[in-house]
Amino acid sequence: MVLSSQWLDSSVFGILGLLIGSFLNVVIYRLPKMMERQWATECAEMSSQTVVPSASFNLMVPRSKCPHCGHQIRWYENIPVISYVALRGKCSACKAPISLRYPTVEIATGLLFFISIWQWGVNPTGLAWCVFSATLLTLALIDWDTTLLPDDLTLPLLWLGLIAAALQWTPTSLPSSLWGAVGGYLSLWSVYWLFKIVTGKEGMGYGDFKLFAALGAWFGWQALIPIILISSVIGTVIGIAMKFTSGLREGGYIPFGPFLAGAGMASLLWGPTALMQVLGL
Ligand SMILES: [Zn+2]
Repeated sequence: MVLSSQWLDSSVFGILGLLIGSFLNVVIYRLPKMMERQWATECAEMSSQTVVPSASFNLMVPRSKCPHCGHQIRWYENIPVISYVALRGKCSACKAPISLRYPTVEIATGLLFFISIWQWGVNPTGLAWCVFSATLLTLALIDWDTTLLPDDLTLPLLWLGLIAAALQWTPTSLPSSLWGAVGGYLSLWSVYWLFKIVTGKEGMGYGDFKLFAALGAWFGWQALIPIILISSVIGTVIGIAMKFTSGLREGGYIPFGPFLAGAGMASLLWGPTALMQVLGL
């Protein structure tokens, strides 16, 4: 059987996606902790306490360990998906279960890379959508876990969307991308203040504005309304479902970022135009 180059290219990137997904698991777990450490250091500095230098902790060091027993994960225990299956989802030392999320993130990233390259080929457009989808997946899970949307991810995503439009890597024109970013930010910013003035509560965070601005930059201002409608509908449905299954966390707060990211992902897969048709717009 002769593999077409489309199959071959997409499969190579699919496998690359599995490896990147393995790295994303590290980012999802460590980036919020790195931010908290930095805030703690800054607070200590501001209150002119002596800062005790702690052991370095970043995306590269220390090496991954089992959270239950501290067993250092060897390279062959860290092969995407394969290791999980080989270890039957358990730590080789203490047999504690390994979260199903790790292989799920790896497979999801692999699929997103496969689809991006299948659709656009190995070129700046295909690669841009790989980066876009990997970043969205990471943001969605970090927000779900910690209700944080790190600037370190939302802002580069926003810039890359504008640059991709300027270089015509995405089908969005630069003016449409620019106004998408502006409109995305300002619309949620206005909702935030309105909600705050009326109810005295904060309904979302600044990270949501930046993420929505980034989606505007990637898909253009025309996509803003479909994206916000879809994320609100899905967010509401899941919120109600969680309320009934009492899966809500303390305070009943659900982060909005994962739903924005999900709607962004849907726009990538089916195009914002198809989303508008679904909504009858
Ligand atoms: Zn263990």
